[in-house]
Amino acid sequence: MKYAVLDVETTGFDPDNDRIVELAVVLMDGVDVVGRFVSFVRPERPLPARISRLTGIAESDLRDAPAMAELLPKVLPLLEDRVLVGHNVGFDLKFLCREMEENGYFAWAGRSLDTADFVRVLFPTWAERSLAYVAGKLGIPHERPHRAGPDAEATAGVWKACLDKMRALPLTAVRRIAELFRGEGSDFAWFWNEMASLRREMEDVPGFRVFRDFAFAVGEWGNDEVQDDVEKDRLPLDGSFAEFYRDVKERLRTRFDAYEERRSQDQMAEAVASVLEEGGLLLVEAGTGTGKTLGYLVPALFHALGTGEKVVVSTHTVNLQEQLRRRDLPLLADVVPHPFRAAVLKGRNRYLCLRKWEWKATAAEFETAEDRMLAAQLIVWLTETETGDVEELSLDSQGRQLWKSIESDADSCLNRACPWFRMCYYHRARHDAQRADIIVTNHALLLTDFQVDRRVLPSYSRLIVDEAHHLEETASRHFGRAVSARDFSALFARLYKDARTGFLPLLRIRMKELYEIDKERLEETLDHLESLVVEASAQWEALIRRWEGWLSDAISARSESGECLVRWKRDALPPDWNETVRQVNAFLETIDSLADGLSRLSEALRQELEPSATSGLAVDVAGIAKELVRLRDDLAFLIALDDERYVYWLEGVFSSRGKWTNVAATAVPVDVGDLLRENVFEAKDSVVLTSATLTVGDSFDYVRERLGLAADDPVFAESVRVVRLSSPFCYREQSLVIIPNDFPKIGGVRPDPAFVERLAESLAETALTTGGRMLVLFTSYRMLRDVYDELDRRLAPHGIRVFGQGVDGASRSQLVRLFQECSRSVLLGTSSFWEGVDIPGGALSCLAIVRLPFEPPRHPVAEAKAEWLKRMNKDPFLHYSVPQAVIRFKQGFGRLIRRSTDRGVAIVYDSRVLEARYGKYFLRSLPEPTVEALPTRRIAARVAEWLKGESL
Ligand code: SF4
Repeated sequence: MKYAVLDVETTGFDPDNDRIVELAVVLMDGVDVVGRFVSFVRPERPLPARISRLTGIAESDLRDAPAMAELLPKVLPLLEDRVLVGHNVGFDLKFLCREMEENGYFAWAGRSLDTADFVRVLFPTWAERSLAYVAGKLGIPHERPHRAGPDAEATAGVWKACLDKMRALPLTAVRRIAELFRGEGSDFAWFWNEMASLRREMEDVPGFRVFRDFAFAVGEWGNDEVQDDVEKDRLPLDGSFAEFYRDVKERLRTRFDAYEERRSQDQMAEAVASVLEEGGLLLVEAGTGTGKTLGYLVPALFHALGTGEKVVVSTHTVNLQEQLRRRDLPLLADVVPHPFRAAVLKGRNRYLCLRKWEWKATAAEFETAEDRMLAAQLIVWLTETETGDVEELSLDSQGRQLWKSIESDADSCLNRACPWFRMCYYHRARHDAQRADIIVTNHALLLTDFQVDRRVLPSYSRLIVDEAHHLEETASRHFGRAVSARDFSALFARLYKDARTGFLPLLRIRMKELYEIDKERLEETLDHLESLVVEASAQWEALIRRWEGWLSDAISARSESGECLVRWKRDALPPDWNETVRQVNAFLETIDSLADGLSRLSEALRQELEPSATSGLAVDVAGIAKELVRLRDDLAFLIALDDERYVYWLEGVFSSRGKWTNVAATAVPVDVGDLLRENVFEAKDSVVLTSATLTVGDSFDYVRERLGLAADDPVFAESVRVVRLSSPFCYREQSLVIIPNDFPKIGGVRPDPAFVERLAESLAETALTTGGRMLVLFTSYRMLRDVYDELDRRLAPHGIRVFGQGVDGASRSQLVRLFQECSRSVLLGTSSFWEGVDIPGGALSCLAIVRLPFEPPRHPVAEAKAEWLKRMNKDPFLHYSVPQAVIRFKQGFGRLIRRSTDRGVAIVYDSRVLEARYGKYFLRSLPEPTVEALPTRRIAARVAEWLKGESL
């Protein structure tokens, strides 16, 4: 097939009013480039400055260029008999068609293909589909983005990669995708159909397992020869931990030139090894650069290999889990002199249920083109994934919605009766965990295991909790109850959306087609159930409207992001509370009838039909019934307000479209200490809790109290060991903290324009000195927005770009990547940027902290914790607000120095650090950087001196 890859640059984004200024075409015969054409185009109108900045095209480049009328006779013959290809080709095509029509030609009537669509399907794990990102992933040179020639060249490279990938897919997958789009009539559908026909003539690609007409990267679990090798070569481990550790370090030294001996890592390994051997509880704060993960993984392996006991490692973030899976454990597999097995086990809903997927794919139950694209992505993904873990995919909100209907869940799992059992990803992960020496999991699953009587994780008695500063908050959410508007609505939609959509209509169609059954009775049952869904939906809608009314009454209390929280307190309930309770009770009665009807239907299906034919259907019906009952119980708990250990509230977000979204009722325990003690600390022989941020002002008291391990508690006074390991970095030499001593106080949440201007002025002066390379952390999104505009105005003329969280729709990881790639840039971020942003080297040389990160005191949890502390005669500000802010502050500061060779400056724009009585806790918690208080006008010069390596 022949292709013409097109790219245009324009004076703007409106095809009706803007004009092409540069056009490029790359001609391809199959995957080979056979010709190129590129030319500037005279637009007959001024070139906007922002386009000139973006593209690097100057007015002078266009002055003598041919007009489109002169170019078209040269360009159009090149496109003849070719399929037009482009990245987001719709944009280029609109401009081209308009020029064609204006110059007396018919608009383009040939086929056109969008590489962005193909990339989406063929590379389902990629986070983005921008040309720059895709070219980068494929290793295609793309030196000058936003110029037609280089963009068309890069797109041709991308198209070649897509064609190669399509040829490397098994025929089963290509055929499935072609079937998915059959009847759609698009050029995309046509191309897949062509590809499927072509592939039928060719030999199929080897190396895939085809099962029930789907192609997979992995075969049945339990047949893994590598695991048997591990078993065969396994030797009993003798000797001491010190010898084992020495041996591992020696191998690390031999393998890696850059390996550095770290005293703090040794101390951590020794402490962890002794707690794993002797039992007990250990809290380890390990500063940045300690090498914390190897500090606990090596002793964990020694223990597991020596005793045959499993060790469980729990993390909070997926990033750390993936780091352990992809980097640290494979590294240890290389250097530990004994083979071992490690497995990652996540929450069940992270895994694809193949039975549900087959049902959905076979029923072609994809309503929209968007759904079909997602299904095509999944078909390709199955040929690549070894885990079936949703984390590998990057799904948007619609994708997540689709995922909910095909995720694995306990209620509808057929287990061994499932035809997919031996291919099942969830059971594969459990099987691996069962055989593993080290199991990596997350805090949420760890807590679920305790809640369901240890039925999720294999039996173990040694636990290591990394990112332990998040354990309390995860436990609070986990032991809490919540029902959102979407929870019930999504279940109702899954059951019955309209006469053709939903589980009940589908069942009606399927049963009639496939099975011998008393159809009249089934019709009656389905009619009844559908009418109950309609009734319950109406009741639920009415209840949500009432709750939205309560939120609207309190709208003045909403946060800057539009979030509004209304606490439900027994002595201050809305006036129509009793009426609402009656409304909820009526709704719960309908839910009871519906759940009961679904259970009975499930039972009838089981009894009347062959087990092989109905097991899936019956279990799915029963699964939905169980989910309804669970939600029903949660709602009943929430509305009863009975448990005094909980704090209850209603929340919602008032969107920019003037509607309430994410409306939910929630209750969480005010204190989770007892729950954690009982379920985690007292239930295990050894527990290690570690993080880079556990102490406040040299003391573990705060975290111990939060976790139920208070030092004055007779049970834990002696049995808890604490170790504080300082970072191996020399912070005094490497980092300078500047506190402007004449900066105005911020006052309320919304600062006055004079403050914003002063801040932007200081940040701009510093950014000009550092050439960008600056991360600015805010506690308020509103302030971020205000500063963004002002800062961009000041820095843009100097070629320094400003990226802002939430400003241009880019995700956190995209922004971090853009910041790293664009050396002259400043990145502004709020909440999630305070933690986990890891930018080593000179890309981040200056960190600005705008305001100390205190949590808003009006959050119901903060309020309830304050009341609880007051009841215990403790000052809530000093015992809760300050320590929490200090830990966050330490996390933010931790972004600055990531390597022993880094050098950087942190500027703290909050005079409370110097003036407030609690300010000292913030500075004392930092790892002893150089600290200076200076007038604002001197900051830029001092930053320049410091980065050059000069002391004061
Ligand atoms: S075994 Fe359970 S989770 Fe796995 S595919 Fe079958 S029903 Fe789904």
